Amino acid sequence: MTQTTKEIINNRIAKNSRPAVWRDVEDEKWNDWKWQLANRITTASQLKDIFGIGADEQKQIDMCLERFRMSITPYYASLMNVNDPGCPIRQQCIPTKNELRKNPGELSDPLAEVEQSPVSNIVHRYPDRVLFLLTDKCAMYCRHCTRRRLVGKTDCSISEEAVVNALEYIRQNTAIRDVLLSGGDPLMLPEGKLENIISRLRKIPHVEIIRIGTRVPVVLPMKITHELLQMLRKYHPIWINTHFNHPKEITEESARACEMIVDAGIPLGNQNVLLKGVNDNAGILKELYTRLVKIRVRPYYLYQCDVAEGIGHFRTPVEQGIEIMRSLRGYISGYAVPTFVIDAPMGGGKIPINPEYLVSINSDQAVMRNYKGEFYTYPNVTGKT
Ligand SMILES: *Cc1c(COP(=O)(O)O)cnc(C)c1O
Ligand code: SF4
Repeated sequence: MTQTTKEIINNRIAKNSRPAVWRDVEDEKWNDWKWQLANRITTASQLKDIFGIGADEQKQIDMCLERFRMSITPYYASLMNVNDPGCPIRQQCIPTKNELRKNPGELSDPLAEVEQSPVSNIVHRYPDRVLFLLTDKCAMYCRHCTRRRLVGKTDCSISEEAVVNALEYIRQNTAIRDVLLSGGDPLMLPEGKLENIISRLRKIPHVEIIRIGTRVPVVLPMKITHELLQMLRKYHPIWINTHFNHPKEITEESARACEMIVDAGIPLGNQNVLLKGVNDNAGILKELYTRLVKIRVRPYYLYQCDVAEGIGHFRTPVEQGIEIMRSLRGYISGYAVPTFVIDAPMGGGKIPINPEYLVSINSDQAVMRNYKGEFYTYPNVTGKT
């Protein structure tokens, strides 16, 4: 870890800031991803025992758990201030009764991924790339997950038959040059199985890049091991996108995981969701994005919250996201500015939604507004020789 990184990490989880039940766990165990997974919080009564939540809340959580799963790693849970209902960590991992509300326009499959699936586990929406869903498991189940119709339902990873069919589909479609491994969280697969799939994918000549979408660096950073990275780097070019939503999630542990990934030659991006009450604020996102680039993570997309069921309480007005983007562009490094997108319902794909900088355009000139709102013109050349 570089000195600068050390300086910016101000929220390292000291042993004595862990909840009492875990205070005596030796570091060796704490830093072992298997221990973290084995000790995940999955029931309301565990939350009561560990964090002392009240009976009312326990009841509400139990009701939510009939529909959507919960699973919180001790590492992630230790970042939470349980006494603050607005804590950005708490809101992302502990269900509230808001999840039981069904709002107009919400869909169980908001992105029509089922419809755009030519063979099971593949979503083919764009000409040159596909989504390849490897598992429905995640280290932690995010309360705002858009794919909750699948995620955490059966706890199973892909069958060999489905792998064969998916690979065959990719092999037959020579236009596919980019395969995005997703889920669930692909890094939850046993490493041998993951390598098996990636190595077979690599044998397909027209597959140029392989991408992995994973929240493991944020919620289970100890799972990013040298062995895992040694394996992945054999199959370069590999790209990874992770999912940090709040600066509180950048800790010594998660920063180290990101640095290890980048040091293995894997470009690392971040896709995050604009979440009401969690990060719907220009100051918070500015801090998140500038700190991410310090640990060499490139903000890639900022998503408007989808119309998935049970996440209405996280949704912000579209205008708010546009205003946030306006206060980022020009004010911080371009590298720290993601593209704000709405993943259109019904499978329309990701549509960039930007503040409008172009005021007018004709064959003579383009009139533009800069980041401060000042007007500039650029002489146009349309139709001139
Ligand atoms: C998001 C997504 C992709 C990747 O899109 P990029 O803009 O290239 O990151 C590909 N396929 C599906 C179905 C997606 O949802
Ligand atoms: S890690 Fe991704 S897929 Fe898994 S629960 Fe969170 S948002 Fe959903």
